[in-house]
Amino acid sequence: MKILVTGGAGFIGSHLCAFLLDQGHQVVCLDNFFSGQRENIESLVSNKNFELMEHDITQPFDVTVDQIYNLACPASPKYYQKNPVETVRTSVLGAINVLELSKKLGGIPVLQTSTSEVYGDPEVHPQPETYHGNVDPIGPRACYDEGKRCAETLFFDYHREHRIPIKVVRIFNTYGPNMALDDGRVVSNFILQALRGEQLTVHGDGSHTRSFCYVSDMVAGLHAMMQAPDVVGPINLGNPGEFTIKELAQKVVAKLGGLVEFDATPTENRAGDPKQRKPDITLAQTQLNWGPKIQLDEGLDKTIEYFKTVV
Ligand code: UDP
Repeated sequence: MKILVTGGAGFIGSHLCAFLLDQGHQVVCLDNFFSGQRENIESLVSNKNFELMEHDITQPFDVTVDQIYNLACPASPKYYQKNPVETVRTSVLGAINVLELSKKLGGIPVLQTSTSEVYGDPEVHPQPETYHGNVDPIGPRACYDEGKRCAETLFFDYHREHRIPIKVVRIFNTYGPNMALDDGRVVSNFILQALRGEQLTVHGDGSHTRSFCYVSDMVAGLHAMMQAPDVVGPINLGNPGEFTIKELAQKVVAKLGGLVEFDATPTENRAGDPKQRKPDITLAQTQLNWGPKIQLDEGLDKTIEYFKTVV
């Protein structure tokens, strides 16, 4: 098959492109390199089945493919808050452009990578897909959260109105090789700080939690979703192992040495920073026969090995 991966030079996108090439598919990688990196696809460009389309997804485009994975959007708070209006445009216009392409091609499957951020600062824990979320529509995270929520709306409206075969997954915190050095997210930040002999910057008292999924598990989940006949979603994809940010810092220090620095701003005062997050993955387990295989310690070791080669 010929498969379009938008955001294919990004962190998860580049792993997905490599996975699909390994499966023998032709891959078209669309990226404008706003947060994607050329180094992530360096090893793929020589593959005759790989094609790079340098393009901004907010502008319509045309390519003949059999399936679409839509990953194009900056996903780190540091990046998506840099240009919030563009973040909304990327999610919303990007969704319309991939859905219109699917329609033009006669209704090819199109998978939307949504996010755990649609749950906002959740009042239900862990979060099942039936939870409608607690998002502040005017907060600093809203450009991402509401953009992704609107993209889900568009996917379901195109499904109802035009019978487009859609697939919607909600990705929880994911980590691994190919994260940008300046990505700003907690796993890459802590590893880099420890490798550079800097203090690990824990926000507040570090009591807030996240659940961390290794990237190869995430790619397997995306692929399982695309393959699953008639499964529309939304379906949570993530690793339900839940850790406080302080515990994560301690794990990295145990592996690499270093000191932890707690900053003065209490966690509850960090605007929009969700206090806790953990996916309920019952649907993914039952409908996709999918679950994460790599637990945090093993995944951290693999990620540390990668960062040692690029620092
Ligand atoms: N965080 C932290 N130190 C850092 C980066 C992040 O304590 O250097 C915290 C951040 O406040 C948040 C959690 O780690 O509570 C996860 O942040 P990240 O930006 O990785 O992802 P998200 O908030 O989107 O889940």
